[in-house]
Amino acid sequence: MDKVVRTDEEWRALLTPEQYAVLRRKGTKAPFSGEYDETFEPGVYKCAGCGAELFSSDAKYDSGCGWPAFSAPAGEEAVELERDQSHGMVRTEVLCASCDSHLGHVFPDGPAPTGQRFCINSAALELDEA
Ligand code: FE
Repeated sequence: MDKVVRTDEEWRALLTPEQYAVLRRKGTKAPFSGEYDETFEPGVYKCAGCGAELFSSDAKYDSGCGWPAFSAPAGEEAVELERDQSHGMVRTEVLCASCDSHLGHVFPDGPAPTGQRFCINSAALELDEA
């Protein structure tokens, strides 16, 4: 896959301060504060950094955790996973496979059949309503 590569200056110019803090500085917004936490309209969630399709509304569910939660990515190549040992925890970070932007984390407490909960920041997403 061709990666989207931008300088830090380009990212700053392109993104809102909130998007930049999440996508490029691995920030996390407070729970229950994001635009898409309680959105269940049909559509495709795209990367706010590069527009790549990341998640389908079909996989979105109400986890109660305060952030948008998905049981699976839109495709096997949509996201990349990395071990994250920051903040005194061992977690699995979820990144956009196209532009390497930080999206959130994945936890093994999701619904069947995947058993996965992709816990994603609203600021990292843009919903294209169907
Ligand atoms: Fe991206």
